[in-house]
Amino acid sequence: MMLFKHTNAIKSYLYKKKGEGETIGFVPTMGALHQGHLSLINQSVKENDITVCSIFVNPSQFNNKKDFENYPTDIDDDIKKLEKHNCSIVFVPSVDEIYPDENLKHQAFDFNGLDKYMEGAHRPGHFNGVATVVKRLFEICIPHRAYFGKKDFQQLRIIQHVVNIHNMNTDVVPCEIYREPNGLAMSSRNRRLGEEEKEVASSIHKVLTEAKKDFLSGISLERTKKKMTEQILANRLFSVDYIEFADSKSLRPIQNYNETTQCILCIAVYVNEVRLIDNISVF
Ligand code: AMP
Repeated sequence: MMLFKHTNAIKSYLYKKKGEGETIGFVPTMGALHQGHLSLINQSVKENDITVCSIFVNPSQFNNKKDFENYPTDIDDDIKKLEKHNCSIVFVPSVDEIYPDENLKHQAFDFNGLDKYMEGAHRPGHFNGVATVVKRLFEICIPHRAYFGKKDFQQLRIIQHVVNIHNMNTDVVPCEIYREPNGLAMSSRNRRLGEEEKEVASSIHKVLTEAKKDFLSGISLERTKKKMTEQILANRLFSVDYIEFADSKSLRPIQNYNETTQCILCIAVYVNEVRLIDNISVF
């Protein structure tokens, strides 16, 4: 596996390879890699000649300084994992490599309302930061395909939108949520959970699954949400940031089944200090 730290070096390498007809798959990450990330790497390795994984904790997408400072990093371990999974290139840039100019850090995007709800509403500026870094990384890595997890469903929708309106020549490939055997969606933030907290966090997926069943059996959305909130708050370690049934395309929250033909149920909770998100496709 090759390791690049400098933008110009990786850019000229990949331009050359692309010119020679090789296909490039790209998996952008913030490191502290787990099996969820590696499932994206596996898929890219299968579908492309070259797989590039970037590891960059992007300061401009954190609206909470403490969250940024506490974000786990483990670069040596990440490199070992990527090597084992046949990743071709790891790109580990510094902040200055990605943002040589201060005003590159915060570009303004029109997300056509996709950022108004859920993560966008609860983390002001977050998606502008995400779109800024992804656009920059795409310009550097010029991928044919880029792999994004459905765990960050709103992020995936927003990236699809940005790629579309900017006519970027990249296929965005949505990837399934990879879970622990107990249902907990894998996340770098899980490293910050103690054993009891992990156990508690595993109920998020159970609550989502039960809510989907309730909803499909005809129980009203309002009652389903109320029951979910009660189930979550029954454990003293939990607090709820939001629970939202939304149209999977526009991400607009819905109040009734008949408001959409494709529905996703999204949740954000805190287990003590650690914020976790998850979702389930309802229909
Ligand atoms: P992150 O390092 O958290 O920025 O995540 C990098 C990529 O991995 C994003 O596209 C995430 O959606 C994806 N990802 C994170 N956790 C999972 C998971 N449990 N299953 C599938 N994809 C994931």
